[in-house]
Amino acid sequence: MSEIIVAKFGGSSMADANAMLRSAKVGLDNKANLIVVSATYGTTNQLIELSELAQKGNWTKCESLLDQINEKHYKIAKDLGACEEINSSINNLLNEVKTISKGISLLKECSPKAFDRLQSFGERLSSTLFVKAVQNCTKQTVKFLDAREIISTDDNFSKATPIVSNIESNCKLKLKDCLEGKALYVTQGFIGQSPDGSTTTLGRGGSDYSAALFAEGMSASTLQIWTDVAGIATTDPRIVKEAKPIDVITFQEAAELATFGAKILHPTTLTPALRKNIKVFVGSSYEAQAKGTWIKKECEDRPLIRAMALRNKQCLLTLSTPKMLHAHGFLLEIFKVFNDHKVSIDSITTSEISVAVTLDDATLLNKSLISDLEELANVKIEQDLSMVSLIGNNINHTPNLAAKIFKALGNINVRMICLGASKHNFCFLVDENEGKNAISYLHKEFIS
Ligand code: ASP
Ligand code: MG
Repeated sequence: MSEIIVAKFGGSSMADANAMLRSAKVGLDNKANLIVVSATYGTTNQLIELSELAQKGNWTKCESLLDQINEKHYKIAKDLGACEEINSSINNLLNEVKTISKGISLLKECSPKAFDRLQSFGERLSSTLFVKAVQNCTKQTVKFLDAREIISTDDNFSKATPIVSNIESNCKLKLKDCLEGKALYVTQGFIGQSPDGSTTTLGRGGSDYSAALFAEGMSASTLQIWTDVAGIATTDPRIVKEAKPIDVITFQEAAELATFGAKILHPTTLTPALRKNIKVFVGSSYEAQAKGTWIKKECEDRPLIRAMALRNKQCLLTLSTPKMLHAHGFLLEIFKVFNDHKVSIDSITTSEISVAVTLDDATLLNKSLISDLEELANVKIEQDLSMVSLIGNNINHTPNLAAKIFKALGNINVRMICLGASKHNFCFLVDENEGKNAISYLHKEFIS
């Protein structure tokens, strides 16, 4: 059996018939065995908006949004010269979108299950069309695969957890001709299926993760993530013009970068790739010749600071109480509250009588979470902060690094620092309006 290659194309690579044809060629040129696609550009957002309008019972607005979604997909079908069979699949899918929306608007309620089902149509439509795009570019056998047959998950709708062992056995059982190189398969990212057969989704941006799960299940040698930028850069080029492309980066560094704000990869993508040591390539479907970035287990060059990222809208919760003094079990109680509310904490620092934690987004702050925390401690909330992260190697064992960082920051006030947990990361919070400056100063000091 030859090497298996899984390729994933994001929404901008699926924007219209031309983008689809360009992506199809990229997938074929790069010898993909399985292609995982996102919804067409903007469609997931439209489906989410549709569910919101429907819940408000605003059917007239729903209808106009449905028209836009229909028009976009019918146009791609027409431009690709879709056959009767594909046209009728598209028709059925779009009719079902309408029926579900109508149901939501009548009930003025959208259950998590209905919401995931509605969101799934983005990928189901795009993949149906993409099969035709690939067929237009090759004589190979190209088959449509319903990702739900492979991606088993729990029933935590909108953020379902994949069941890796089932995925592996599903791949062995159902993807034989694909694994043997006899057919090229096209499937959906983002969606899965719970044990009772309901459609689930893996969370926004989850197609990267899906592709990695397929790659793991198929024991692929390479996972290619095709997007609209040619690889990972040392920082966001919109913040720092001098940002440089990175040729090779390790899994650990790339995972930290993805988690700490570089938008290019979904943070969970690398976990399956790491488990099976699958090389990951990130490149642009618009510029397939460009170098792109390889993410690998080992990498010869290991700079102290390889890249930096900025994450806005951070929120800092400081919990303090004298009860913490010399007491044990306090952190446990606090974490239990976060756990009960299913809110995940990003970073944490503690002193004798207080704990400060950061949350990724102020929307995670709900009243009942806060009131539960207030039963344990005084709670202070600060919002509109940015997390600045430096990613590299040996960060926690390098003398003088902190001094250099703070010197470069000049007058910018640092609200909280996390250092020590990982040798690949140094991060701290600053006021949101200082975030970009902090990145520019640090990039100048360490990279440009
Ligand atoms: N279509 C989904 C989203 O927009 C998943 C993805 O594109 O990765 O979040
Ligand atoms: Mg994406």
